[in-house]
Amino acid sequence: MKYLINQVIRSEKLHRTPLFRSSLGFAVVCLLVFTACATVPHTGRRQFNMLSDTQMNALGLKVFNEIMAREREIQDDRIRGIVKRVTERVSGAAEALDSPKFQWDVKVVESDEPNAVCLPGGKIVVFSGILPYARNEAGLAAVISHEIAHAVARHGGERLSQQLTLRGAIAMGSEILKEKDGKLDAKSRAILGALGLGGTLGVILPYSRTHELEADRIGQLYMARAGYDPSEGVNLWTRMAQIKKPPLPEWLSTHPADGERVRRLKETLPQANAQYAQAPVKYGKGTPL
Ligand SMILES: [Zn+2]
Repeated sequence: MKYLINQVIRSEKLHRTPLFRSSLGFAVVCLLVFTACATVPHTGRRQFNMLSDTQMNALGLKVFNEIMAREREIQDDRIRGIVKRVTERVSGAAEALDSPKFQWDVKVVESDEPNAVCLPGGKIVVFSGILPYARNEAGLAAVISHEIAHAVARHGGERLSQQLTLRGAIAMGSEILKEKDGKLDAKSRAILGALGLGGTLGVILPYSRTHELEADRIGQLYMARAGYDPSEGVNLWTRMAQIKKPPLPEWLSTHPADGERVRRLKETLPQANAQYAQAPVKYGKGTPL
């Protein structure tokens, strides 16, 4: 998601004219009045998304091509084969349950980073640093399912909509607070700074935590329907919790605390097991990586 956000920020720098700011503000008001609301599958949460699938999928493809131009694909055919078949099974389960009708593809790139991403439209990148944590096919299925769930639940479009709305709100605020000579005084700047900071902490971060927990819950259903034992997903997130990172307090972190994440996955395990019972073929933990 970092790539997407940076791209929007970059492209917005080109348009920082007063006219653009006020028209953006007006556009935001119109969009908020005629809000483009959708419902997230399986959780029923209502989301605000002002970007179309066509726009988001085109952006997803562009970012995928950029990543692949920069990174090196791994040459290990065994790993590539496993990642490909896990992706086929999990994306097949996502299509069976929620029919996003994506153009799926997956690449594995060499990187120490324990990460993976599914871009809007279904293009997936697995960074090889995640493989030791995935440990087996089911662990990998948990990672890929989680990423696919972000894409199917349109979290990218929602996040960008929040960013654009927030920027629009700040632009409108600056118009209102502007002094007669067209400049902002120190007090106005302070208020806007607070608005920006308040927006960041109050709007963006809690949504990100919501997105993470939602992707966990939906992804758990996908991996189970794909024929992988969902209890291995709980083990995966327990292992991920051991990754060293800055000791951020939970409320300031974009990610839910690992304890909360694992507890919630255990809570929803019965629904995932019901999907597992319906899986056409069961692979259990699958092959070790
Ligand atoms: Zn996530």
